[in-house]
Amino acid sequence: MVEEWFGRSARDLPWRRRRSPWRALVSEIMLQQTQVSRVVPAFERFIERFPDPGALARAPERDVLAHWQGLGYYRRARLLHAAARHVVDRHDGKVPTAVSPLRELPGVGRYVAGAIASIVGGAREPIVDGNVARVMLRLHGRAAAPDEPDTVKWLWSRAQDWVDDAHDPSLANEGLMELGATVCTPRSPRCGECPLARRCAARRQGTVDSIPAPKRAARAVRQRRERIAMVTLVAVHRGRIAMERRPDDGLWAGMWQTPAREVSLAVASERIGAVPRRWRGARHAGAVDAVLSHRHVQIDVWLATSAAAARLKRGSSRAWSWVPIAKVGELPLSNAMRRVLELGGVRAPDPARPLRARGAARAEDESRASGDTPRAGQRRAARRTAGTVRA
Ligand code: SF4
Repeated sequence: MVEEWFGRSARDLPWRRRRSPWRALVSEIMLQQTQVSRVVPAFERFIERFPDPGALARAPERDVLAHWQGLGYYRRARLLHAAARHVVDRHDGKVPTAVSPLRELPGVGRYVAGAIASIVGGAREPIVDGNVARVMLRLHGRAAAPDEPDTVKWLWSRAQDWVDDAHDPSLANEGLMELGATVCTPRSPRCGECPLARRCAARRQGTVDSIPAPKRAARAVRQRRERIAMVTLVAVHRGRIAMERRPDDGLWAGMWQTPAREVSLAVASERIGAVPRRWRGARHAGAVDAVLSHRHVQIDVWLATSAAAARLKRGSSRAWSWVPIAKVGELPLSNAMRRVLELGGVRAPDPARPLRARGAARAEDESRASGDTPRAGQRRAARRTAGTVRA
């Protein structure tokens, strides 16, 4: 049923137009924790630059990170880079399609290995991601959190049954994921259009809205998210902007930013007291609020006057680079840093996103951070002036 439905209803996505293990690996890694609308332009640009594992293996890390912009979770880019090197060293540059060699690749877990083996290789391998878990739990009427250990075991077992019973494992697995992404959605599922409606226990019992139960991990992370405060300076002189590279580990590792320092939350609350002495005369432009998976970062943005920027340029730290403004968008920048630049009046278009998609993607970011609808995010994005901006 789902196989036929998928044949009729599959979205036209770039990694589906031409199948290969490499394209499947790149798209699956990108799709982890990132929305499809954001992945599509980044995927096309990435694949054009790195059409095979060899091209990625040879590339410097800065180039790889620059092509990952807009996707966040940069650790994935580094793992994919390492996986490409592994494929070149151990598999003659060809991504394997069997689960066990796939599991040896850095960053490839049970789900990604199963997806490549079944969708590209046609193997009867199970897959469980968030979409599959939701459909399975509703289909069987099981009101559990998908990350409870017993439920995880149960889900993989149901997913194995699913693929064992399939006519075509590739269509069955991808169809199930697609159903979860487009019909059996977390809120307001469209049960009237669902090919599984007649078999669905949650629909029969009237429990669709309460399945699945909230994840244990998500509840714990929300409570434990570390709070960090930073101040940053946007200093522009003669068409160049002061930038610095972050350390190789920790928050936004290896990414570029306007000169910044962390401050204690108590100092940050005083605002003016948090600004380093040599930034004197800078004007407060607003704040960027970045809610990340494990951290909540508030960045106070200060603007240097042109005289102060000239003074800073003469005596600036050697860690600072004065980058032409026209080139700053090509550096690896976090989404939060793009918001900082926006507050500072510096345009740094994200090369990973076509112009038309940027407004919509920003609205998606905002709505995800605040938990409201994309339309509300769009309205707020349109209203935004120099004030607090969520990243
Ligand atoms: S009938 Fe509704 S709840 Fe059940 S699987 Fe289909 S979309 Fe999901």
